[in-house]
Amino acid sequence: MATLRFKALEETLKRKPVEVTAPGANVSDYYGMYVFDRQKMEKHLPKEAFKAVVGAIDNGNRIDLKIADQIAMGMKTWAMNLGATHYTHWFQPLTEGTAEKHDTFAEPSGTGNAIEVFSGKLLVQQEPDASSFPSGGIRNTFEARGYTAWDPSSPAFILDDTLIIPTIFISYTGEALDYKTPLLKALHYLDKAAVEVCQYFDKDVTKVNSNLGWEQEYFLVDEAIYNARPDLVLTDRTLMGHASAKNQQLEDQYFGQIPRRVIAFMKDLEFESYKLGIPVKTRHNEVAPNQFELAPIYEETNLANDHNLLIMMIMRIVARRHNFKVVLHEKPFAGVNGSGKHNNWSVSTDTGVNLLSPGKTPKSNMQFLTFLVNTLAAVYKHNALLKASIASSGNQHRLGANEAPPAIISAFLGRQLTKMLDEIETRVTEEKMSPEEKTAIKLDIGKIPEILLDNTDRNRTSAFAFTGNRFEFRAVGSSANCASPMIALNTALAVQLVDFKIEVDAIIEKGVKKDEAILQVLRKLIKQSKPIRFDGNGYSDEWKVEAEKRGLDCESCVPLIYDAYVSEQSRELFKRAKVYNDREMEARTEVRYELYVKKVQIEARVLGDLAMNHILPTVLEYQTMLINNAQGLKNLYSPEEFKVLATRRLELIKEISERVDIIENKVNEMVEARKLANNIEVEREKALAYANVIFPFFDEIRYHIDKLELIVDNEKWPLPKYRELLFIR
Ligand code: ADP
Ligand code: MG
Repeated sequence: MATLRFKALEETLKRKPVEVTAPGANVSDYYGMYVFDRQKMEKHLPKEAFKAVVGAIDNGNRIDLKIADQIAMGMKTWAMNLGATHYTHWFQPLTEGTAEKHDTFAEPSGTGNAIEVFSGKLLVQQEPDASSFPSGGIRNTFEARGYTAWDPSSPAFILDDTLIIPTIFISYTGEALDYKTPLLKALHYLDKAAVEVCQYFDKDVTKVNSNLGWEQEYFLVDEAIYNARPDLVLTDRTLMGHASAKNQQLEDQYFGQIPRRVIAFMKDLEFESYKLGIPVKTRHNEVAPNQFELAPIYEETNLANDHNLLIMMIMRIVARRHNFKVVLHEKPFAGVNGSGKHNNWSVSTDTGVNLLSPGKTPKSNMQFLTFLVNTLAAVYKHNALLKASIASSGNQHRLGANEAPPAIISAFLGRQLTKMLDEIETRVTEEKMSPEEKTAIKLDIGKIPEILLDNTDRNRTSAFAFTGNRFEFRAVGSSANCASPMIALNTALAVQLVDFKIEVDAIIEKGVKKDEAILQVLRKLIKQSKPIRFDGNGYSDEWKVEAEKRGLDCESCVPLIYDAYVSEQSRELFKRAKVYNDREMEARTEVRYELYVKKVQIEARVLGDLAMNHILPTVLEYQTMLINNAQGLKNLYSPEEFKVLATRRLELIKEISERVDIIENKVNEMVEARKLANNIEVEREKALAYANVIFPFFDEIRYHIDKLELIVDNEKWPLPKYRELLFIR
């Protein structure tokens, strides 16, 4: 084993950066070349078909089968010209990542030849044999039928030799089995609700979009060393490993110089992204060694999310070319920062207005305030649900661990906006305002500076921070599907806007002027949602106490956090927005418990195996060496001299025995606990057993292994150490 480790290291030390050259002189030469976007549709489709797709994209119109045939034909011709031989429906099951099943265009023609076929029917709908994806019992295997259906709002693209068609994935009975279906429903409902509210301010608004700009954090590990760590290979994180003498304490990695091998990888990844029309913009080092970040320019939420899933896919492919492995786990290494995926989020109109950006005039500022305050109200009301939407077995290591937002959702606004909201709240105390008060408030509203960006004091400890023209949801895990938080957030805002409108209209009905009616309701919401606003240090212990007092959800046990999915309040929310029905909600929550159990279960198995079959044999071998050595000394020296010379050695022999004993016992106890847990039938209870009984063993066992790592001969240690994993040369 030891030799393997050093061979692996030798190999990596010899590596040179792979040369990468741009596919064209300018990015514009190749940007989007593999995407069947509007321009290409216009070129490859008959007029009628082109109009139909645009109608489907912009207004959600249906496309009839005859037209679909034309579209499929155009798509196929375009794709085959670029070398595609296969096509696939690409969907987002409730596990991680995406799924696909490739079919070839070629079909036997019946005369000994083959012809390339792709019809409207194949484009629009398919029935993959996908009965083993988790469905929480909605789709029993005997009725094993789930359908994928084309999502025209996200363009098809080519990866390698395959035309990839983004689709939704639903059961035979019409229930969603994926992330995209509910996301599209949530976005649709938000559009309708927000347009209605925008009408108070601007009659020209006919569509409101939700926007998402994700920032993806990730680790790179040299492939050879990665492969020598079974825990990384099987669980995407290290289950043991003593901290490296140097890790991130110098903070010299953050925005530091990027190693050349990594630069080559990033360049390559950017080229691939551009070819697929992903507007990647920034790249830099992150806080931890070997940690990096990638962020594109924000896009409409459904498209942005597809792009995020796609980039997680191509990252892995490109990494292989550079002898790296991408690690997307939220906490791959203890003691250094984990990875998140900040979700920058805003809503904007088809008239080009960002509704979360303060405007130039009191009127546009009133609109801004309306959306700001309704967002706060929605986040306040559904803070438990929002947390549930980002909770996972991986993210539980980050939440509350002084590096990511705590396991409490709060919103940061910055001084200026806080002052503004406080003023509105205290100034308008009567149902009816005096004319002076009205003027005063209008003046205040007019005063919101157009560019808050530079003024907003940044608060890195807030889970949901306003950053001048958007909110940044920072608690999202690096491996997550952003759709999960985006479904919760957009639905919560949408329903909040519906309620807002009902209330404002009722006041107007009573003869109150529109502006005043809006202000009255805003004032109420500002008051109500005040507990969610917190500008202080979200990592502090005082905040935990304070948040509890404020009635915010402070649960930190993941299976219990998931309960928020099936609370009365969440059910009502999702039903009103027609995003999920009861059955779907229950099924999806079931899947979450199931996933949690499986992940922790796999980790427990790998940890047990590594401890018993890799670590302990090595440790015992080393101990035998020490024993032999002591025995030899004993033969050479007098008992008095021996006592002096061998003291430390004897201590080590004892320490090793003690630690080995603890590890053995703990691993056995963990195995027994697992047997008990596995017998639990109710998925939620099983998840709780895994969280409360199994999970705590991990740290106990690893603690002793990590201590032994410092004792045992470096040559013998069977796993690459943190210092080898974390510094790319
Ligand atoms: P940070 O300072 O948080 O690291 P970055 O510049 O790396 O910020 O990333 C900011 C992200 O926010 C980018 O993806 C950017 O496109 C996105 N963004 C900017 N404005 C908006 C907006 N109005 N709505 C949504 N996302 C936005
Ligand atoms: Mg950020």
